[in-house]
Amino acid sequence: MRLSNYFLPVLKEAPREAEIVSHQLMLRAGMIRQQSAGIYSWLPLGLKVLRKVEQIVREEQNRAGAVEVLMPTIQSADLWRESGRYDDYGKEMLRITDRHERDMLFGPTNEEMITDIFRSYVRSYKDLPLNLYHIQWKFRDEVRPRFGVMRGREFLMKDAYSFDLDEAASRAAYKRMFVSYLRTFDRLGVKAIPMRADTGPIGGDLSHEFLILADTGESEVFCHGDFMRFPVPGAGVDYGDDAKISAIMDEWTSAYARTDEMHDEALWDDVPAADQMNARGIEVGHIFHFGTKYSTPMGAKVTGPDGKDHDVFMGSYGIGPSRVVAALIEAGHDDAGIIWPASVAPFDVGLINLRSGDEATDTACGDLYSKLTAAGFDVLYDDTDNRAGGKFALADLIGLPWQLIVGPRGLANGEVELKERATGERLTLTLDAALNRLAEWQAETAARFGG
Ligand code: ATP
Ligand code: MG
Repeated sequence: MRLSNYFLPVLKEAPREAEIVSHQLMLRAGMIRQQSAGIYSWLPLGLKVLRKVEQIVREEQNRAGAVEVLMPTIQSADLWRESGRYDDYGKEMLRITDRHERDMLFGPTNEEMITDIFRSYVRSYKDLPLNLYHIQWKFRDEVRPRFGVMRGREFLMKDAYSFDLDEAASRAAYKRMFVSYLRTFDRLGVKAIPMRADTGPIGGDLSHEFLILADTGESEVFCHGDFMRFPVPGAGVDYGDDAKISAIMDEWTSAYARTDEMHDEALWDDVPAADQMNARGIEVGHIFHFGTKYSTPMGAKVTGPDGKDHDVFMGSYGIGPSRVVAALIEAGHDDAGIIWPASVAPFDVGLINLRSGDEATDTACGDLYSKLTAAGFDVLYDDTDNRAGGKFALADLIGLPWQLIVGPRGLANGEVELKERATGERLTLTLDAALNRLAEWQAETAARFGG
């Protein structure tokens, strides 16, 4: 993409209402625009990151055996009356009346609708296990929408729903999602720690929130240092092997990790002081086993091997890709701007032409742009006639992993500069050596983050 053809409305200064760094940087980098409280447009640069996050989430859901569907944003109130949640949900639900005076709502979540789909088609235990998910916009009329897309009113959610014949199978389904979340956040280039969460009236031990550590997180977290060392399962992990999946979850739940809501001082005191990590975190995912809470009132049953009808056991599994984008920035930035993990960076390389209009420099840049693009790099080519200082500042702000800096003086010696955003390291290299270094990085990135 040539910057001169792109739409990248950067701001010199962050609007004053932006309190946390991810919100400031997303506005400054022209990623999002607020349309009303907690409701945002995603501009091209922001949308690119959001789509990459979504795609990694999708690939790891698919790998774990979940099947993608797409349910509507607008739902009928009648479904929610069946589960009893229409009245319970309160003011967070945006209620709408259509022209026929029918009660509708903008979905804050989809348990009722997916249960309705399930009961309409599935009759036998032979069709189980089943896990259906979608990635769709949700609306919750949050009391205090704030921090940009971190706590929006309209936000994107991946929500998956598992269906199983009995409690044991349902637990196994939960564990597959648990493991898929470990892989998902690892591929997103971030450490997310599963923490024991409240199961409310349903009880049991199967609810976990996944939190990314960052100073501005809304939750206080208490966790054992072992979480920094537990291995993340590789792409080859066998989701058909219940024992193996269970063992992975056992390890990742073997040490203390809770947010302030669930914190237990007595258990915390058992963690050796040197291993105690007390930090702040951002909830980016939440998984929940709720048994027959919806299937019983909504009549979602399957015939078991015993020939009898059984209320189906369910769980739900959420990740907020739009919140993840902001959380990645909270976890990865410096004074100059964003530092994206390689797997979700909007572009791989910023190609900076220091003398647009100079024939030799334009030709060299055009040539590099073609070569890099042909080699599978996503390149943002700054071909504008802005000053060099402005180009560097922009590249730092938007946080692409690499900057390839090309000017007439270097070219006279057959050289360019390559700057790595994360380390700030700048190397002067021949054109070929620069391309080779980038190819190396591309291979490392594919090995580290690839599906
Ligand atoms: P929170 O406690 O932060 O309000 P929640 O417990 O209501 O979250 P869930 O209902 O479990 O969230 O939703 C699943 C995921 O959806 C969350 O882990 C988060 O990533 C995302 N999410 C929830 N509410 C919002 C919001 N207002 N803005 C952006 N993302 C959200
Ligand atoms: Mg909430």
